[in-house]
Amino acid sequence: MRITLDPTCCDGFGFCAEILPELIDLDEWGYPIVGGAEIPQSLLGAARYAVRSCPRRALALTQEVALSTAPRSPAPR
Ligand code: SF4
Repeated sequence: MRITLDPTCCDGFGFCAEILPELIDLDEWGYPIVGGAEIPQSLLGAARYAVRSCPRRALALTQEVALSTAPRSPAPR
């Protein structure tokens, strides 16, 4: 499970980073930086609370697998 952010909805007041400082940092303007790391089991409750508490519904939990950054192998001939 990971947290995702829709930056077009975020108001940048940083409430989420107060709830979940272990996973959400703020940039120099106060907007959250969501690293996309797997949420440890011990932080799942706080992560759900942060998502529910976001006043702009800018956060979500997802179970999507992160896309690989490894180069694709060439197609067979
Ligand atoms: S709580 Fe929601 S609106 Fe506020 S900074 Fe975090 S993501 Fe943005």
